[in-house]
Amino acid sequence: MIARTDLRGRPLDAASLRQVLPRAEFDVEAALDAVRPICAQVQHGGAGALRDLGERFDGVRPTDLRVPAAALHDALAQLDDGVRAALEESIRRTRLVHRDQRRHDVTTQVAEGGTVTERWIPVGRVGLYAPGGLAVLASSVVMNAVPAQEAGVPSIALASPPQRDNPPRFAGLPHPTVLAACALLGIDEVYAVGGAQAIAMFAYGAREDDGTVVCAPVNLVTGPGNIYVVAAKRLLKGVIGIDSEAGPTEIAVLADDTADPHLVAADLVSQAEHDPLAAAVLVTDDEDLADAVEAALAEQVAATKHTERVRAALGGRQSGIVLVDDLEAGLAVCDAYAAEHLEIHTRDAAAVAARVRNAGAIFVGPYAPVSLGDYLAGSNHVLPTGGCACHSSGLSVQSFLRGVHVIEYDRAALEQVADHVVALAEAEDLPGHGDAVRARARGRG
Ligand code: NAD
Repeated sequence: MIARTDLRGRPLDAASLRQVLPRAEFDVEAALDAVRPICAQVQHGGAGALRDLGERFDGVRPTDLRVPAAALHDALAQLDDGVRAALEESIRRTRLVHRDQRRHDVTTQVAEGGTVTERWIPVGRVGLYAPGGLAVLASSVVMNAVPAQEAGVPSIALASPPQRDNPPRFAGLPHPTVLAACALLGIDEVYAVGGAQAIAMFAYGAREDDGTVVCAPVNLVTGPGNIYVVAAKRLLKGVIGIDSEAGPTEIAVLADDTADPHLVAADLVSQAEHDPLAAAVLVTDDEDLADAVEAALAEQVAATKHTERVRAALGGRQSGIVLVDDLEAGLAVCDAYAAEHLEIHTRDAAAVAARVRNAGAIFVGPYAPVSLGDYLAGSNHVLPTGGCACHSSGLSVQSFLRGVHVIEYDRAALEQVADHVVALAEAEDLPGHGDAVRARARGRG
């Protein structure tokens, strides 16, 4: 069911490791060909195109592209008490963590009379994406919205695919739990639009044929999604800002002989159930543990609800068990792989975790499974995939802020460095730069 890669006795550098490690045939380039015409259709066809695309890809034609306020209210009123309590606690914990990420303006005195202030300014308008294809992720509403709110973004819109199987009261709208999560968070601009077309709507805006604005364009789009969402974000980057490429989920587990094979298997299954393209990788120096995890997987996969999806994900070339000589080699493999989620099930797990360089989020020890992070740890679950964790971070308050330098020098402070500016300007053959400073430094009495 799950392939093995035996790296024992094979000293490999990071570049060679990347060649041999399991990784999805996550062909964003091919998906780009699929989403290019979708984005063009939205750019030129506006609201009508969004309705057509909803019918084609989600199996239901949304009548109200913008969810009416009454539907948000009703979704919250009829929300199951247990789900409401869980969402409220998730929001509370996520807010605690993200509130601590808020940035404060910093002024640096560079010289007497010369300062540089870094001012943190929230993005003006953002579009958040909450997936709703194979699973409906109300949790992604929380993970997107809380950091945007804590950053102080003044205009927040959210899109999620319309659901074909909704009860009649919510026909053609996103899932009622997504709507209820929006209502709990006070987000009232919600669209029944999914996939690449949602990203294109946020980038270009959308109008009805008579010119009525349905959705105004945004400055930044964030949130996770499938390969089409990732491809659309890559295609439209530049028209809009994006967070990281947060595509089909990945879990890597670094484990030694102290790990519990049943817990490791359960965590691999928990992420494999997201998507047939999801990746689940075990890295271990203990062949007995590898055998035990494989046996536990056989049992658990047969018993789990989304057996076919899990089987496809575990059996895909993106998943596997990697055998290594020792923990050192295991850490090198994990750094080369740069998983979205990395679990550490070893002796001294915290010390091992402290040595990891590349991962979207690190889960330490047996009581911090990825599914805790998916919902209630307080951490953010929108995380970079496909190896992007070696250069990108998960979603945070910082994702919604821009740092702007504000430069204030008085005349004496400028005169102090005028000769240096002129010297560098002449070295770069840009005499106008030097002249602009000379005009101030000695031009005025
Ligand atoms: P989704 O909302 O991302 O995608 C559904 C949309 O895909 C549909 O509305 C449809 O418009 C579009 N689509 C489907 N088939 C298409 C096709 N053939 N051509 C063009 N468009 C098509 O929901 P999903 O499919 O359930 O995917 C959610 C993904 O998000 C999963 O892969 C999950 O692992 C991932 N995820 C990632 C993170 C992260 O932080 N990296 C977090 C949560 C979820």
